[in-house]
Amino acid sequence: APLVQAPHVVLLASPGAGHVVPAAELASRLAVHHGCTVTVITYTNLSTARHASALASLPRHVTTTALPEVSVDDLPADACIETRIFTVVRRTLPQLRDLLGSLLGSPTGVSAFLTDMLCPAALAVAAELGVPRYVFFSSNLMCLASLLYTPTLARTTTCDCRDLPEPILLPGCVPLHGADLVDPVQDRANPVYPLMTELGLDYLRADGFLVNTFDAMEDETLVAFKQLSDKGVYPPAYAVGPFVQPCSGEAANDTCIGWLDDQPDGSVVYVCFGSGGTLSSEQTAELAAGLEASKQRFLWVVRFPSNKDRSASYFGTTGHDDDPLTYLPVGFLKRTKGTGLAVPLWAPQVEVLNHPAVGGFVSHCGWNSALEAVAAGVPILAWPLFAEQRMNAVMLSSERVGVALRPNARDDGSVVPREEVAAAVRELMSGEKGTAARTKACELRLASETASAPGGPQHQALAAVVGKWKQGLAKP
Ligand code: UDP
Repeated sequence: APLVQAPHVVLLASPGAGHVVPAAELASRLAVHHGCTVTVITYTNLSTARHASALASLPRHVTTTALPEVSVDDLPADACIETRIFTVVRRTLPQLRDLLGSLLGSPTGVSAFLTDMLCPAALAVAAELGVPRYVFFSSNLMCLASLLYTPTLARTTTCDCRDLPEPILLPGCVPLHGADLVDPVQDRANPVYPLMTELGLDYLRADGFLVNTFDAMEDETLVAFKQLSDKGVYPPAYAVGPFVQPCSGEAANDTCIGWLDDQPDGSVVYVCFGSGGTLSSEQTAELAAGLEASKQRFLWVVRFPSNKDRSASYFGTTGHDDDPLTYLPVGFLKRTKGTGLAVPLWAPQVEVLNHPAVGGFVSHCGWNSALEAVAAGVPILAWPLFAEQRMNAVMLSSERVGVALRPNARDDGSVVPREEVAAAVRELMSGEKGTAARTKACELRLASETASAPGGPQHQALAAVVGKWKQGLAKP
């Protein structure tokens, strides 16, 4: 009798810790809990050591391989990050086709091709080769719904979306202001705008979406989306989240953890803007002064300032080779010594959020950070910077979810001044609104645990999709 073969899943991950980290989690679960073998394909372009380390400890049955570097030197120097990523994705399609073709011809075959949320252009290659194809959407369903809506937005409006008079009502979502949509649809004149329309249309080639969300977080959106996919408007969405890295224990000797061990329970606000979030020099100074004035204990992951690009840190240290702490206001480190800890560039975030000393999180609202905060029961002060982070902030601070507070920026939206930082941080840590957000975060923590419990909804949703791939194996 023929051996029962394991489905072989090929997963294409776009660069950036926020993409590689959940992709690695998905690959692990498919291998460990669903009997799959997995090949993770990454990009050489735009990769950093940080991304590589996320892929360093994958279980058996997960293999990684990288597409070769392609030149994007012809792009204008001011091309936005999305343009760079989409260009790399398109230019490596021939290499991807060769790779997928050779895997298809190998004894394992390919049961399914999964592409990251930023690479749906690759679905065409899988379609051409007749391979079942899915999008692994590492952000939330509201974000997916908004990106599916961009072709309609482009077709039915003429102004920039921030000037739309009415809020945008996506299926089952909290109303969104045009200005809260993702960065690359904000400016119709930017060359990335038509690429976003293509992205929205490319998603429709998928057989389904595996979304990093769960019922308690996006209940109404999941219901509304299902109605649309039942009607054939969209491919079906499977809520396979939340993907949150487990605490590794490796961080035990880390400076941050050692320092947190000496702080009282719930007393520290953790400040971090994801892997790419970057503040201007002025905002860095205001945040420092505000943290100091708040008189709260803090742990701050400090990046090099950039006055041009709020995602400047995404692919490295932006050419700096000194210490980002030297860009903090004069005397700040000395004055806050003991009550505050500033660390350069990176902290073991999941361990930090789960430390009993941490009671609040000033966050850029990257989706991984949001899920990690919720899984740790920590309320958020929402400080979105780029990508879909404004949208996430709207959702997290909405009445429905309610785990986040929002600080007020100056009228022109550019800077959150020190007084506001101080007041908002105090409110988060000890005010009434902060307490309500903490209660909500603890409720969602339980829901997140339920969703990802062994055999729970997350497991079942993945099992349902893997079941389809296994049926493909049984075909003659
Ligand atoms: N992260 C971390 N330490 C840091 C900054 C980020 O461990 O100092 C991790 C964080 O835990 C999360 C990921 O990097 O898993 C960032 O993903 P997110 O979606 O929050 O934001 P992005 O980096 O994509 O903007």
